[in-house]
Amino acid sequence: MIKNSLNSKVRAHNLQLMVEKQLDILVIGGGITGAGIALDAQTRGLQTGLVEMRDFASGTSSRSTKLVHGGLRYLKQLAFHEVAEVGSERAIVYENAPHVTTPVWMMLPFYQGGTLGKFTTAAALDVYDRLAQVKKSERKFMLDKKSSLAREPYLKAEGLKGTGVYVEYRTDDARLVIEVVKRAHQEGSLVANYAKVTDLIYNSRGQVCGAKVLDQLTHQKLTIYAKRVINAAGPWVDTIRQMDGSNQGKHLHLTKGVHLVVDNAKFPVKNAIFFDTPFHDKRMMFVIPREGKTYFGTTDTTWNEDPAEPTVTTKDVHYILEAVNKMFAIEPLTFADVESAWSGVRPLIQEEGKNPSEISRKDEIFHAESGLYSIAGGKLTGYRKMAEKIVDQVAQDIAQNFGDYQYVKTQTVQLPLSGAAETGSQGFQEFLEPAIKRGMAVGLSEIAATKLVHRYGRNVDQVYTYLGQGLADSNLAPVDYAQLYYGLEEEMVIHPIDYLLRRSSQLLFDFKHVLEVKDQIVSEMAKYYDWSAETKAAMIAEVNQQIALRQAFKTAVKSYVS
Ligand SMILES: Cc1cc2nc3c(=O)[nH]c(=O)nc-3n(C[C@H](O)[C@H](O)[C@H](O)COP(=O)(O)OP(=O)(O)OC[C@H]3O[C@@H](n4cnc5c(N)ncnc54)[C@H](O)[C@@H]3O)c2cc1C
Repeated sequence: MIKNSLNSKVRAHNLQLMVEKQLDILVIGGGITGAGIALDAQTRGLQTGLVEMRDFASGTSSRSTKLVHGGLRYLKQLAFHEVAEVGSERAIVYENAPHVTTPVWMMLPFYQGGTLGKFTTAAALDVYDRLAQVKKSERKFMLDKKSSLAREPYLKAEGLKGTGVYVEYRTDDARLVIEVVKRAHQEGSLVANYAKVTDLIYNSRGQVCGAKVLDQLTHQKLTIYAKRVINAAGPWVDTIRQMDGSNQGKHLHLTKGVHLVVDNAKFPVKNAIFFDTPFHDKRMMFVIPREGKTYFGTTDTTWNEDPAEPTVTTKDVHYILEAVNKMFAIEPLTFADVESAWSGVRPLIQEEGKNPSEISRKDEIFHAESGLYSIAGGKLTGYRKMAEKIVDQVAQDIAQNFGDYQYVKTQTVQLPLSGAAETGSQGFQEFLEPAIKRGMAVGLSEIAATKLVHRYGRNVDQVYTYLGQGLADSNLAPVDYAQLYYGLEEEMVIHPIDYLLRRSSQLLFDFKHVLEVKDQIVSEMAKYYDWSAETKAAMIAEVNQQIALRQAFKTAVKSYVS
């Protein structure tokens, strides 16, 4: 069954359907893990419902380094199995969503006295190529010092011995999630954001059989029944396990990671670079050019507070800036150069005696006596495989214990996400040019059309249809208007911040533009949703709070400098 529009009316209808019929599976959490599970289970013929307490991807899944990567770093931990698994998943994610995953050549420089030399870098990249089954055209090559500097003049020359160059895939994590959610919805999954699980419910045998859900928009309390419940709540996995009384044994260790964004003119690297920090913790950091900006990170420190909005402290900023200033031949960056930042927490599984960087990123499934399934750890990159693993168990469980379902294996290996097609990356390359031309034909600049085609993939023609509509009544530029309305109609944008931060990433990579358009966006949405003055004020406050978070960080930066 293919369904399309994904808007607030569909949201309300989905919640109503979830209340009316018993689901096969209720998924808690609309990050990449929950979205992947909903898609995998739904395409195996299991009726799923997914509830997300805030917006889709508002947790860790919009706060990553935004790489679909093979986990080269895990070779240091000798985690060969993980490298092999995530490496081959990387290729699958790319073929199923080529519009949100772009291959980029990544430079791995090695220096005199560094942890890696020419031989070890080449050997590590060879092992990586083999384990991750990297295709021929993307296998590593090595550069000597001269060629390295010719390729990237901003690398620090002193002590440089050479670089290994290999391919990673840059992504937009929040958009990857929404494309999975949209495909799950098209397959018949009932999805709703702003719907929070407040309690689990149990049958007479003490087995979990559903959840109480608070509709955060209407404040209604809903009861949703399901044969099985999967807890994919990321950093909140243990909170749900506590609700279930099953938070024993292994538990989560949250670690915080911060990224900073500067204008590419301030840090004009052309290449993505993965480099050793000059610090004792021997962390490695990424530098990634994107949309006229360069972003870099990350830190890795234990986080024991609320995972909802982890902070960016002056210490975090200082750590990252010191690393890039020491390792690059650039005019040293100051705190004032930082345009935006984000901070997220990794839901890792505790390993006694290990420091944050050493804790494995592998995923694990917990099956409680109550029947509650929980899944934690892992990576954005491995989301499809994680979903396959847990749905294998849950589907078998349902097939054995309920007479109306026969086990089916995963269907997602070659399942294009929304915005992609059966023809994979090759088909997307062929789609690109004509789609950009169609955008230009309806009045977009080449740059704007190219951006939209990469952002929305094959859904871009739907975005184009909004270009000429309703503009007479709106102060928004056509390109903003079209994206906002596509978001409202097709991507369940409920709050302005959903659009500004997660559907369009503007709050991260086009901060100044957000300051210019935020009031019009809120007004446009107030019109669309017919908000009361009170609701509109609350929405404005939310946008301003997100901006203030970043302004507050800048103020803290100023006081740190002075
Ligand atoms: C700094 C950093 C960098 C990273 N970089 C990369 C990278 O480059 N590549 C990569 O592959 N991986 C990366 N990761 C890892 C990756 O981001 C995470 O593994 C992944 O996003 C976790 O997704 P999740 O769905 O499990 O959790 P989340 O995205 O946090 O989703 C869980 C969701 O559950 C919801 N929820 C919680 N409680 C309830 C409730 N009671 N009711 C309803 N909903 C609820 C939350 O609101 C949340 O949206 C990085 C992580 C961090 C922190």
